[in-house]
Amino acid sequence: MLQVQDLRVIYNRVVRVLDGISFEVPAGRMVALLGANGAGKSTALKAVSGMLRSDGGAVASGRVLLEGRTVTGYSAVRMVRLGVMHVMEGRFLFPDLTVKENLEMGAYSQKDRRRIAKDLAQWLEFFPRLAERRSTPAGYLSGGEQQMLAIARALMSRPRMVLLDEPSMGLSPLLVREVFRIIRQIQQSQGLAFLLVEQNVKLALEIASYGYVLEQGCIRIEGTSDELKQNKHLQDFYLGINGNGTDRCQQAAPQ
Ligand code: ATP
Repeated sequence: MLQVQDLRVIYNRVVRVLDGISFEVPAGRMVALLGANGAGKSTALKAVSGMLRSDGGAVASGRVLLEGRTVTGYSAVRMVRLGVMHVMEGRFLFPDLTVKENLEMGAYSQKDRRRIAKDLAQWLEFFPRLAERRSTPAGYLSGGEQQMLAIARALMSRPRMVLLDEPSMGLSPLLVREVFRIIRQIQQSQGLAFLLVEQNVKLALEIASYGYVLEQGCIRIEGTSDELKQNKHLQDFYLGINGNGTDRCQQAAPQ
């Protein structure tokens, strides 16, 4: 569904952050983009969703294809119209609006009131915590609940693909598990495509079927989740299994 080919991204006309990365997300699948702080994961998502421009970034070369159509450099508004929703770190909710109102805002492009009400009921079923707090202003929610609301609000727009940036960010281990369990349920039951950016490699590999490891702007390793779990470099540097490792790009030899 999504193909990114040899993408180079620069910030402020000079700083090169992505150095020719390529990856794919097939329809209905969950693919993880993994890597340490500052590797360029969020930048890759922004390059796809059209959010780079507002950050002073630009695609210097390479292509982004959505279902075979070139969408490189499209604005965020155009990408949303094409069904690509980006749930960003920081969440960007409307704190004074209730949970229900935030969800309705997510459906702003939909016209059919009955369909909106049906979607709302469906997503509240997936997120029972939000159902309990539907009349609470978003600003009063816990971090985990806000993360759930941000995801549910994106889903209200009936996307075909969701770009999820660090859903585990700032959440307790218990809540992270709950959020990931719900994401998996949604992906499996709705057949939606997800591109998941995560620093929590272990959890990401539990719900994604395929992953790419980004280091210093390059894709160093890719494979199915099972292959990645067995990969010595991942075990050393991200999964903490062998208890050693540094962070240097050039040491990242694929197995
Ligand atoms: P994190 O998990 O910490 O968000 P990341 O892998 O998502 O890391 P990015 O946020 O994409 O990494 O950042 C990659 C590099 O690009 C970093 O060195 C960062 O400082 C730089 N960068 C990000 N945004 C900008 C910007 N607006 N202007 C200049 N440099 C930026």
